[in-house]
Amino acid sequence: MPFFSNLDIFLFSLIAGLLVYWLIFRKKVEPIPEFKKLDAQTTRETSFIDKMKKTGKNIVVFYGSQTGTAEEFSNRLSKDAHRYGMKGMSADPEEYDMSELSRLPEIENSLAIFCMATYGEGDPTDNSQDFYDWLQEGDADFTGVKYTVFALGNKTYEHYNAMGKYVDKRLAELGAQRIFDLGMGDDDGNLEEDFVSWREQFWPAVCEHFGVEATGEESSIRQYELKVHSDLNMNKIYTGEVGRLKSFENQKPPFDSKNPFLAPVSVNRKLNKAGDRHLMHLELDITGSKIRYESGDHVAVYPINDSVIVSRIGEVLGVDLDTVISLNNLDEESNKKHPFPCPSTYRTALTHYLDITNPPRTNVLYELAQYATEPKEQENMRKMASSSPEGKALYQSWVLDSCRNILAILEDLPSLRPPIDHLCELLPRLQARYYSIASSSKVHPNSIHICAVVVEYETKTGRVNKGVATNWLKSKMPTDNGHKATVPMYIRKSQFRLPFKSTNPVIMVGPGTGIAPFMGFVQERGWLKEQGKEVGETVLYYGCRHKNEDFLYQEELEEFEKTGVLTALNVAFSRDQAEKVYVQHLLKKSKEAVWRLVHTDNAHIYICGDARNMARDVQNAFYEIAEELGGLSRAQAVDYIKKLMTKGRYSQDVWS
Ligand code: NAP
Repeated sequence: MPFFSNLDIFLFSLIAGLLVYWLIFRKKVEPIPEFKKLDAQTTRETSFIDKMKKTGKNIVVFYGSQTGTAEEFSNRLSKDAHRYGMKGMSADPEEYDMSELSRLPEIENSLAIFCMATYGEGDPTDNSQDFYDWLQEGDADFTGVKYTVFALGNKTYEHYNAMGKYVDKRLAELGAQRIFDLGMGDDDGNLEEDFVSWREQFWPAVCEHFGVEATGEESSIRQYELKVHSDLNMNKIYTGEVGRLKSFENQKPPFDSKNPFLAPVSVNRKLNKAGDRHLMHLELDITGSKIRYESGDHVAVYPINDSVIVSRIGEVLGVDLDTVISLNNLDEESNKKHPFPCPSTYRTALTHYLDITNPPRTNVLYELAQYATEPKEQENMRKMASSSPEGKALYQSWVLDSCRNILAILEDLPSLRPPIDHLCELLPRLQARYYSIASSSKVHPNSIHICAVVVEYETKTGRVNKGVATNWLKSKMPTDNGHKATVPMYIRKSQFRLPFKSTNPVIMVGPGTGIAPFMGFVQERGWLKEQGKEVGETVLYYGCRHKNEDFLYQEELEEFEKTGVLTALNVAFSRDQAEKVYVQHLLKKSKEAVWRLVHTDNAHIYICGDARNMARDVQNAFYEIAEELGGLSRAQAVDYIKKLMTKGRYSQDVWS
């Protein structure tokens, strides 16, 4: 009998073969040494419950954020948790499976905080839209879920903090337990102060609820660590891209907020004939981009900061701004690997990614205070970040009322010289700016028009502050040293739409740059007429300071009136006579016609421009017309206009 059977020989050969293969080839089959992917997408997991369990977190702070403020507040709250011996994580509802909220009680002493901003006319922010839809439709059971909400909004808007109020109410309806009252942040007043005051009360309440004690640890905690790169290939370094590396050189549709299109500027002209302001008309060429838009949509542009301010920060802090760096999150489980695209240089970060012109919030002052070597300066910074009445007043006058940006603060506090990487960690992201599109895609399918006023003012400290985006746009001439000047942009859809039926009359009220969307509307009504469509009355109320100075688009508007596209062009010149004449005065003057259009002919009303005063005054004028000509009481008139709003026949595109 053979010592080895055929099967044994076969198995032996197989094992020996595998052993030789392993010895020779193991180097090749070994996984490539771990390379940290820059794109957060690759490491994303949608279960926040699993993540919380894995990382020992008990507090999750969700943010509905459009301009970054709610996200900032959310980060601050999640960092705060540490001071109270708890662990928090900030989370974007768009990135997680929100139906898991009902599982939160699986985690001991758990709490969900929501920082919810309201956008536009009571709308959710883009990143909280799905969560909002789900809350509305769903019938989840949140028994045992503990929560609190901080709302961010602006009182000058009709639907003040609608989102925060809704989430607060809806979670309770679904069985969750509110452990602290809804916080109301008003950006028309002092949003930062509202937040700080709410937070001061909120944490002691949380401690009491969970029976924990504050650790009293007030030290600042770094979230990112600095890595300086000395030998990185230049092709691997971000130079201002918002999303994908090299996306500005290698443009690929579809274009959106994470992948903006670099639109060449084809026209940039001054609109006003006189006066010391600069009102401008820009045209962005979108040929070949496959970008589509509708009249009433907004165009978002990513501006860059003034190079003078950027260089000056480098000088004051004595750093080489061209150092190539990464700021890497110390929490390896976080979805957010870097505070802005990295690797990058300090110069790129300060130019493209960080907000260096808005007055810094109190948490930035608090964290930076440790670097002020002069005791008085340090004390004042700490005071401004505290919730004491004296501290709040100092922050209000020294930072907000004086419009001090980070550079002004560094200049005026000579002992404050923080490491630049910590400063870059703390500053908020530079945000895209939105403009109401001033063209119709029916007439201009390949270009998007912008109408804007260049912002420039002197501050109490004698410095001249310049609006980031408008000054940058002003400098964007169609040919810039033989190169085409371009603007990174994308479209944001809006609800501000012409009536579905072209036969419906429209009443448009848009003083100043509020004329922008109506240029698109009027062009579109003209185009419809050219197509042989029946078009209802098209009435415009426009207002400016002086007829000979800032009557924007005068020639175009008068031409539209001549050809009958505009059936009535009413212009209020506010400063051409002793007493002010505003759009609402002209509305009242033609009240019979206005009431007939609204009440009998189903007109749609549109308001665009300043939210703080104009939109409110115009709304009051409509109340008065409804009272007077409809024979209604004030309450009935208010109800009448509010019903028009609900039906989508009274729309606003306003800013403050
Ligand atoms: P503007 O030229 O300053 O004003 C247009 C016309 O509206 C002027 O005749 C002005 O009159 C008049 N007006 C002032 N108060 C009014 C009121 N309560 N009701 C009706 N009309 C009124 O307009 P603008 O430069 O386009 O700016 C309009 C507002 O929007 C400003 O407050 C501006 O700061 C703001 N804005 C904000 C943004 C943004 O994105 N946040 C962008 C652009 C403009 P008088 O000046 O003679 O009183």
